[in-house]
Amino acid sequence: MPFNYYRRLNRRQQKIYEQSDSIEEVALPQPKLLRHAVSSIETALADENKAKVQDASSQLVRGITQQLKIPKVSVKVLARRPSDSWGELHGLYEPAEKGTIALITVWMRTAKRRQVVAFKTYLRTLLHEISHHLDYEYFSLPDSYHTEGFYKRENHLYLLLTQTDVKPEPLQYDLLSADQ
Ligand SMILES: [Zn+2]
Repeated sequence: MPFNYYRRLNRRQQKIYEQSDSIEEVALPQPKLLRHAVSSIETALADENKAKVQDASSQLVRGITQQLKIPKVSVKVLARRPSDSWGELHGLYEPAEKGTIALITVWMRTAKRRQVVAFKTYLRTLLHEISHHLDYEYFSLPDSYHTEGFYKRENHLYLLLTQTDVKPEPLQYDLLSADQ
């Protein structure tokens, strides 16, 4: 746990942080049904077909929210990642507000060389942003923090959907992490 960060939180936030840290898994009932969407994402990225990446990503996200019986979230796939001195933005999650549904934005090309991002990186980004959605809608946390538990849940989802032993590096850049 990044202790200095934790210490700056007020007691209410610390409680949410501890709650988030204590959950390590996502009880997705039928991950195998979603593997088709996962491999469609891989193919669409290899073909550099943004419309198909968008479709397959939406299908995967819809499958997860349906299986967990939580409110849906839209997915928007954009081309080139925004970047600044802090790095490149991989993904973004905007929680639902009154009258809107939550939105995930992911970018499929790197900022510098404009290359299509690697499949694993893309999938991890998408699952990272979905994990924020689950924090609010499935685990009913009032805030979504990058706790160790959060990264374990994200990794758990990744393993459920790919069944590999790969342990990718945690993502460093999205707006929430930039805020922190
Ligand atoms: Zn995040």
